[in-house]
Amino acid sequence: MHGSLPPDTAADPTPAELIAGRPFLSRSAIDGLVLEGVPLAAIAAALGTPTYVYSASTIRARYAALASALDGAGLAAHIHYAVKANDHLAVLHLLGRLGAGADVVSQGEFFRALAAGIAPERIVFSGVGKTEEELAQALTAGIGQINVESAEELRALARVAQRLGRTAPVALRVNPDIDARTHAKITTGLAQNKFGIPAAEIPALYAEAAALPGIAPVGLALHIGSQVLSLAPFRESFAVLARLVRELRAAGLAVPRVDCGGGLGVPYRNEPAPTPDALAGALAGAFRSLDLDLLLEPGRWLLAPAGLLLATVVRVKPGPERPFVVLDAGMNDLIRPALYDAWHGIVPLAAASAASEPQPIDIVGPVCESADVFGLARALPPLAPGARVAILDAGAYGSVMSSPYNARPRAAEAMVEGERWALIRPRQALADLWADEQVPDWL
Ligand code: PLP
Repeated sequence: MHGSLPPDTAADPTPAELIAGRPFLSRSAIDGLVLEGVPLAAIAAALGTPTYVYSASTIRARYAALASALDGAGLAAHIHYAVKANDHLAVLHLLGRLGAGADVVSQGEFFRALAAGIAPERIVFSGVGKTEEELAQALTAGIGQINVESAEELRALARVAQRLGRTAPVALRVNPDIDARTHAKITTGLAQNKFGIPAAEIPALYAEAAALPGIAPVGLALHIGSQVLSLAPFRESFAVLARLVRELRAAGLAVPRVDCGGGLGVPYRNEPAPTPDALAGALAGAFRSLDLDLLLEPGRWLLAPAGLLLATVVRVKPGPERPFVVLDAGMNDLIRPALYDAWHGIVPLAAASAASEPQPIDIVGPVCESADVFGLARALPPLAPGARVAILDAGAYGSVMSSPYNARPRAAEAMVEGERWALIRPRQALADLWADEQVPDWL
């Protein structure tokens, strides 16, 4: 009827439970919803809505938790943040200063990471469709690793590297044919997915890579999917990698690195999710005895809980089952619910709202698509026009996936840390929507 999102169930977390599960979010009796030390109503009043807000302390804390879990498990591991999750320069700058490298999938992401001060040797380039131009630019800049996804790409890269007189550091991306048990649209490690090279073809291709001029094989890579909430597929795919490392080494080939990709899921709905310690344990179980450098490419886990999208109720209209509460944020701002049936917590900003009796409502956006739904049958206190809400866990695959569909300008973005906050991207001006469009003079 209106989208295929699963309606809320009695088991869904309440706003109070959602806030309790997010360490940098709190509710003050005076200021309402507060991120770190900043009342979100103050940001909404200053910038208007829709506006993304990120918590720098959350990003720092999550990076530190992941790094210390890896250290604690005795792993020589390097975190290469997956830029696609949120490519804002402020985010890249912060993570780069914390010591992260980057995982990029395009020329644009590569140059963004460089622009944020991340050194080229700390950048990994993934993706099935790298063009020869992209490969040449990455090699010329001194990229740290290219994750090659097919024999065809390997041979093209060898030609490019020889032409430039460079040697390409290459990891072969393995497709382990393992189901990550996540949404089909974010599953990447099954044989029918376009990603990686079948495990059975790796030994011959790795030997070919070692013999090719212009190529220096440095290891194997893997990424089975995103929003992975169970450890089993990680364990199974790490076992495939470890077996291949042993096989290649037994054949006399050097395999100094494995790159285990990203994918660690987050509890959007307060559901059980693997911790960094559990992931580190699975990595240690597979690789500790192999004397390897380990790379990870987390995106969502570092960023999703660090961001939220502020929106204002525009209208409340009756519906056949429940009222529709129409926000000024839509699927063009945050497409995850429409694209992946994703569930995001929604919490009112106002202090008073906590005291009112919740009622089931359908929360929707203003875009002219029936898929523009943020939540069905959400139990929330009454929301009148002008009321503000925060859509939680929108720090990853939020703003980066936004579009100007329905000629809706791109949302503003802000970052908080402690008591201070800053605008990090102004709301797109209306005239900028068509500023680069040209009308042929023969029309
Ligand atoms: N690495 C690769 C190759 C990816 O395709 C992705 C995302 O799909 C990631 C890392 C990041 O995944 P996530 O944000 O789930 O950690």
